[in-house]
Amino acid sequence: MSRNQLSINFVNDVVAAIQNVVGAGQIALHEPNFDGNEWKYIKDCLDSNYVSSVGKYVDEFEQALVTYTGAKYAITVVNGTAALQIALKLAGVEQGDEVLIPALTFVATANAVSYLGAIPHFVDSEISTLGINTGKLREYLESNTELKAGACFNKESNRPIRALVPMHTFGHPSLLDEILLIGQEFNLAIVEDAAESLGSLYKGKHTGTFGKLGTLSFNGNKTITTGGGGAILTDNESLARRAKHITTTAKLPHKWEFDHDEIGFNFRMPNINAALGCAQIEKISDKIALKRRLFQNYKEAFSSISEVTLFEEPKNCHSNYWLQTIILNDQTEKFRDSILEETNLLGISTRPIWKLICDLGPYNNSPSMNLDVARKLSRQIINLPSSPSLFVGSK
Ligand SMILES: *Cc1c(COP(=O)(O)O)cnc(C)c1O
Repeated sequence: MSRNQLSINFVNDVVAAIQNVVGAGQIALHEPNFDGNEWKYIKDCLDSNYVSSVGKYVDEFEQALVTYTGAKYAITVVNGTAALQIALKLAGVEQGDEVLIPALTFVATANAVSYLGAIPHFVDSEISTLGINTGKLREYLESNTELKAGACFNKESNRPIRALVPMHTFGHPSLLDEILLIGQEFNLAIVEDAAESLGSLYKGKHTGTFGKLGTLSFNGNKTITTGGGGAILTDNESLARRAKHITTTAKLPHKWEFDHDEIGFNFRMPNINAALGCAQIEKISDKIALKRRLFQNYKEAFSSISEVTLFEEPKNCHSNYWLQTIILNDQTEKFRDSILEETNLLGISTRPIWKLICDLGPYNNSPSMNLDVARKLSRQIINLPSSPSLFVGSK
């Protein structure tokens, strides 16, 4: 067989494995599913006229998030990016500070830092979790930072590094024990971007509840959706109060007076979106169970293709498998685009992982450590269709 023939066979094998799991027709990467009380609760909003900034569903959804995640407090907001912006602000991030974030994340993580006038500082990834490379990060901080008056300073830029943001990629928990230790050692506030990991546990505890604050997203493509929405999680009562206060225009409670004690944000989640969230979270366990079984189907389909690794939940973790992930190797990474092209031509939505944030125009000049692992992952990862409805039993 010619070299060329071999490569065509490889691409065909991968496409066939995906088709074997998802079947034919238009297949989305991740689509929402409304088979619970969504219509009922939204009708209630319309019937009662409570569609906007007041109403019982916001309180109910926040309570449901507390119950589900085990966080002491949950504050809902308009989207996950706003949640992260406010969480970072409450963690003490100010204009001119640096914030350590993975280079391999969705752009929102970096944007939330920028909205505060702070500067993202990029960290490499590691292969067992697709999250922060704690070994490399510790070494890097040891040689490139110094503690001054209790704060961690970047020796080169002379700016304080205020926080570290782990992001739980595609729902897989990062190395949280190590990350928390690094936070303590270098005096960095930990703020978790748990936008992708609602329902994912690290050593039995919900992601987003390890840091000082954590954030969730309920965008349409996430595990559950409110149309658009997000939440801040924390165990700290005064941070929770402040989060509610500054995301609701910093208005002092009064029957009629408009008194605002600082420049607040209009980031509150409307009641109609929270109603959707209440219905969605009632069924989250079923959705995640289906997503985990879908993973098993992919595992079987890819078992005979040794050049491809199907990414599996890290040790001691229970993952929501938000997006199913395959990783090509050094020999097969050159076929990534052919696989993307073939599948999308067939109507099957697949996509590459993000470009590294430091390679995006607005972040070209931000500080960074060596990013060899993230760079490689960014060439080798493909996400596969991951909707819970794609699971078909006895395949
Ligand atoms: C989805 C997502 C967000 C925020 O999402 P919104 O669309 O603003 O709700 C933030 N970080 C990551 C990693 C995400 O995947």
